[in-house]
Amino acid sequence: MMKRPGLSGLSTRMPQSGIREVFDAAQSYDDLADLSIGEPDFATPEPIAAAVSEAVGTGASSYTETVGRPELRAALAEKLAVENGIDAAPESEIIVTPGAMGALFAAVNVLCDPGDEVLVPEPYWPNYHGHVASANARLAPVSTDEAFVPTPDAVEAAVSDDTTAILLNSPGNPTGAVIPPDRLRALDDVAAEHGLWVIADETYEDLVYDGATHHSLASDGDRFDRIVTVHSFSKSYAMTGWRIGYASAPERVIDAMRVLQEHTVSSVPEPAQVAASAALANRYVVGELREAFAERRRLVLDRLAAIDGIDPGTPRGAFYVFADVSAHTTDSRAFVERLMSEAGVASVPGAVFGAAGEGYVRFSYAADVETLTTAMDRLERAL
Ligand code: PLP
Repeated sequence: MMKRPGLSGLSTRMPQSGIREVFDAAQSYDDLADLSIGEPDFATPEPIAAAVSEAVGTGASSYTETVGRPELRAALAEKLAVENGIDAAPESEIIVTPGAMGALFAAVNVLCDPGDEVLVPEPYWPNYHGHVASANARLAPVSTDEAFVPTPDAVEAAVSDDTTAILLNSPGNPTGAVIPPDRLRALDDVAAEHGLWVIADETYEDLVYDGATHHSLASDGDRFDRIVTVHSFSKSYAMTGWRIGYASAPERVIDAMRVLQEHTVSSVPEPAQVAASAALANRYVVGELREAFAERRRLVLDRLAAIDGIDPGTPRGAFYVFADVSAHTTDSRAFVERLMSEAGVASVPGAVFGAAGEGYVRFSYAADVETLTTAMDRLERAL
């Protein structure tokens, strides 16, 4: 009798993201105003696409150094210094990764052993679950205040003997919360006291509104030694499909991430690296995208605020509204299903972002104005 081979523990431990589940369910509807996915609707800006066409025509189609092309890392070091205040050496403290996703996956896996705990303020982006599970570590939620910002006391209360790292995402998905610089430093002081790594996910660094400012914790004094800062080209430049991001961190961390990356993707595809260099050389496009998002944000906040039983709050970053719908429901999954089948609007149930998200729904405003207007008209009618 032949024995049936099994799959690894990892394959069952790692959950699919709840956001994907909504995305998959949405495929069975013909007419949906889709505000579920966090993806800019713009095409990659022309100067970036043009640079890639030209470079690929002249042979930019090879393996590169695992950590990325030297000219891209030099440009990233300059961007980090000028815009983030982070002093990272291009030859040893920066790695180019397949999206922020690749950087987060590698960072968690080189920092955590099985059984370790990673603190994550809740509500949080569900893929952190997958990253932590891949290392056979545990995600420990940290509660947040009314603005969805974690407090030092909450971090202190969540730390255990197994805690290795804290993941801070600002501007945040799904809440749009921006952690003010002083709060970031206070959180990091607690982390430092307990000898924790900080993983700073700054994927939405360029998308802040209403006078909010983005602050990179690793720019402050000697904090750099314990911080892995993760950035992305996806949201700032409408480059989600190019799959390119980067991390800056102390040399020993980058070196470990390099070895992990060598065994997984070898290097980020060279055309994507050319695109990233062109993006950095045309940084003005970020301002244009931000302006478009700011206009859409205003539209969605104003329209949602006028609907009975919906409190959109005041998200000041990213491109999400995390609306309090507890006046309508205590089951955000059922509510989102109802919005989809009865109103023709796709959104994401707050519960997929952790228990603290129950009673909320995430609307993404990275959709065009027509789709947003249709969605708001439909919600108004349905509710
Ligand atoms: N971090 C957060 C908080 C995100 O929302 C996302 C994408 O939605 C990512 C990281 C991953 O971005 P990338 O496309 O660079 O992998």
